[in-house]
Amino acid sequence: MPRDVCYNPIMSEARRQCPVCGRMVLPANMTRHHVVPKSRGGNEIEHICKTCHRQVHALFGNKELAGTLHSLPELRAHPEMRKYIAWVRKQNPDRYYRGRPARNRKE
Ligand SMILES: [Zn+2]
Ligand SMILES: [Zn+2]
Repeated sequence: MPRDVCYNPIMSEARRQCPVCGRMVLPANMTRHHVVPKSRGGNEIEHICKTCHRQVHALFGNKELAGTLHSLPELRAHPEMRKYIAWVRKQNPDRYYRGRPARNRKE
């Protein structure tokens, strides 16, 4: 497993902030995301948490990611992502959630 984590002593336990949901996430739960899909000529990589990563690719195809949602601020502003972010911020950042639960479970 590549360990390309920059340790920042100010951030506790070398957590990194996910630029999508804003949670402080353990390095093991971060993953690399091509902001613009590689197949569309993108080479910009952001580290986002696995939960966000899964959500982004579940919601959007490469066409959208290369088009209207070509930057993280655009992604975050999308109504579906705003709903997701409001939800995921209440979840434990040390767990990897496979998207939002299908059923309306109480947390
Ligand atoms: Zn995230
Ligand atoms: Zn990705």
